[in-house]
Amino acid sequence: MTELRPALQRAADLAFGYLEGSRDRPVARRVAAPELREGLGGPLPENPSDPTEVVEALARAAEPGLVVTNAGRYFGFVEGGVVPASMAADWLTSAWDQNPAFSALSPAAAVAEEVCRGWLCELLGLPAGCSAGFTSGAQLANLAGLAAGRHHVLREAGWDVDADGLFGAPEVTVVVSAGRHATIDRALRFLGLGERRVTVVPADDQGRMRPDALGEALVGGPTIVCAQAGNVNTGAVDPLREIAEHVRECGAWLHVDGAFGLWAAAAPSLKHLTEGAELADSWAVDGHKWLNVPYDCGIVLCAHPESHRSAMALTAPYLTRTSFRDGSDWSPESSRRARVFPLWAALRSLGRTGVAALVERCCAHARRIADTLAADPRVEVLNDVVLNQVLVRIGDDERTRAAAEQVQAAGSTWFGTTAWQGRAAIRISVSDHATTTAHADGAAEALLRAARD
Ligand SMILES: *Cc1c(COP(=O)(O)O)cnc(C)c1O
Repeated sequence: MTELRPALQRAADLAFGYLEGSRDRPVARRVAAPELREGLGGPLPENPSDPTEVVEALARAAEPGLVVTNAGRYFGFVEGGVVPASMAADWLTSAWDQNPAFSALSPAAAVAEEVCRGWLCELLGLPAGCSAGFTSGAQLANLAGLAAGRHHVLREAGWDVDADGLFGAPEVTVVVSAGRHATIDRALRFLGLGERRVTVVPADDQGRMRPDALGEALVGGPTIVCAQAGNVNTGAVDPLREIAEHVRECGAWLHVDGAFGLWAAAAPSLKHLTEGAELADSWAVDGHKWLNVPYDCGIVLCAHPESHRSAMALTAPYLTRTSFRDGSDWSPESSRRARVFPLWAALRSLGRTGVAALVERCCAHARRIADTLAADPRVEVLNDVVLNQVLVRIGDDERTRAAAEQVQAAGSTWFGTTAWQGRAAIRISVSDHATTTAHADGAAEALLRAARD
């Protein structure tokens, strides 16, 4: 305690300093790797040193290379900040050092996972009996959902894939949309389903799967279909009801990658977008993006707990079982962080109306940014702004990229770039609870300034 208390107190002071300073420091400084190596590098230390000094050295050395993603001015990728209760709970989680893999290791984490499972089903409008696994993000949630699907469709064809693998197994048809996220391909790769062996259904001009083309792709036999709520570029949601109806007809498994877009289901004014999501068999959603939980936090939900558990469960003689739920039955990881506590804290502190307000506010800011930008003849808004994503273009590819670079270098805000339908575009994502109307206006102004230049 004599070493720990001053180190934790110093860390708290440094954290407050960072968070207060991040209101007006450049979002992402231009930093060269050697500068960071100078502070973080050097020879492997030979001897122990004082924890408080270590914390100070880390803060000093890392500072130039930190990207301020949680102060309302960051619009890159789809990131999200951190709601206060969740950040505080994350500190406690480190102090507690719980391992939620087995309930014997943490009855508290086991029950918190059980409670969050129920809260999430309710909030997202999914069947009340869904199972849930807590993962590092949507990548592993996609993996777990698709693994459950692989188990389920092959078991229905009389094959135990978990015991016998894919050697000699009936062929599985995997249907994806042209607008899918890259983590779907990687999950399929991990599962032996191959990222090239898929049937790709074309997407419409907003990146949504075209359900008319889905019908042709469903040829019978064991089949998994991956749909999406929230295209990373446009925010568009696949027509889930129509897709689910096609999928049901042929007895296939429907997985929905809803990393950020599934949160629309928690907002009364946006819920219509995800209508039909509840008909799917598995879902992936992130806590660390739009719910504003600190990294890392993803969740897989599954309407077939038996298949979910069969695909994931870990057993060994020394792994003591209790009457509680064991986290490792539902997630592809074994030992892991008790990421459920910050998730629990976010849900508990925001409540149903707070989550809805967060989601709706981000979408309102996105529309406001899009309207401001669209009023300038130099800017073209490329997507229907239905959620929290805005895609814009300024003149040609070169000017578009140059404008993004100018904004990034100026440092008051940050947008990333992407390619949309073969053309360069600037991607603006509003996912941080801390973003205010003033931040949104500042972001639009920064881009208009760059467009004028
Ligand atoms: C971010 C994202 C993912 C991957 O999520 P991670 O949390 O980075 O693992 C998957 N799908 C979509 C649609 C995403 O936006």
